[in-house]
Amino acid sequence: MRKCFVAGNWKMNLSLAEAGRLVRGLKAKVGRETKVDVAVCPPFVYLNEVAALLKGCRIALGAQNMHPEPKGAFTGEVAASMLKNVKCTYVILGHSERRHVFGEQDKFINAKVKAALEAGLLPILCVGELLEERRAKKTKTVVRGQLKKGLAGVGAKDAAKMTVAYEPVWAIGTGVNATPEQAEEVHAYIRGLLEKMFGRKVAEAMRIQYGGSVKPGNAGDLMSQPNVDGALVGGASLKASTFVPIVRAALKR
Ligand code: PEP
Repeated sequence: MRKCFVAGNWKMNLSLAEAGRLVRGLKAKVGRETKVDVAVCPPFVYLNEVAALLKGCRIALGAQNMHPEPKGAFTGEVAASMLKNVKCTYVILGHSERRHVFGEQDKFINAKVKAALEAGLLPILCVGELLEERRAKKTKTVVRGQLKKGLAGVGAKDAAKMTVAYEPVWAIGTGVNATPEQAEEVHAYIRGLLEKMFGRKVAEAMRIQYGGSVKPGNAGDLMSQPNVDGALVGGASLKASTFVPIVRAALKR
């Protein structure tokens, strides 16, 4: 059975003092959990400070993005090796806000996936359809394209280290989550694609998180689905009072 993985994507939120309070709260409540993997993904500028606060507990650190090049004239960007320097384990890549607000394309995301793996980071590759694509019954086509292009050239050994996050764009930050059945249908489809790409053993080992308006009240039902292996949480990851119950729901799976 895959171990659930719950990650909090703080996006561009919280002051440094608020971030500190949140991490201390999480550390006290779920910092020793071994039966579920937990990560927080703060803004770049807080990574070092949060890494220091997380020392000695089991909550891992992740970044929200990175640039694929190892160094150079890329003003405002951050390289994979820099994320390793500040003790990141994970990096979120291809988040819908990167795709749809900042115009990132699959080829660029694929270069990031490969650079992250090369540097020893564990990528969380986000895929998901827009509302109009779901309405036009294109969900599977969109997800297949993002997955295949995002993972192009990645070998089975590296793929096994990765997490895929299915995040329907219409569910992100809207308060309207996919139903457990809608999520399971796409997760099972993703697992089937992963099997075709990397073989059964790797596909069975890879975790597929659901993301999109996960809250304490719906996390248990979503994660009770056989192919929903955790959650990528935005808004509800900003408070210990809402993130901790989601982690606890993952423990019950
Ligand atoms: C996200 O941004 O990855 C996300 C899932 O956000 P929210 O939980 O707020 O919908």
